[in-house]
Amino acid sequence: MHELSIALNIVDIATAETRKAGALRVTDLNIEVGSLSGVIVEALEFAMEVAVRDTILSGARVAIHPVQAQAKCKQCGEEFEVADYFEQCPKCDSLDLQIMRGQELKVRSLVVE
Ligand SMILES: [Zn+2]
Repeated sequence: MHELSIALNIVDIATAETRKAGALRVTDLNIEVGSLSGVIVEALEFAMEVAVRDTILSGARVAIHPVQAQAKCKQCGEEFEVADYFEQCPKCDSLDLQIMRGQELKVRSLVVE
């Protein structure tokens, strides 16, 4: 499962950050998942439950925040929400878009103690 390797990677990052901070455990973990990241939020939630077992993240509250993808038209500058990479500008019909957000998969914040 694709999401499990992502979850294990997130646990690795969070563990390294926690050690760096000299803390003993993580109480809260906030993750951002863009709608174009290819990650299914429900699958990642389940994978995180498995991945945190027997780690310093065990017992942490894990919150996954979906981020709606947004694009900017390179022709007219219009910004709008998109469902995939191949959409048209609603204002000028251009296909020349720049994805502004929605591709990310990252740890937004971590609370340790
Ligand atoms: Zn446009």
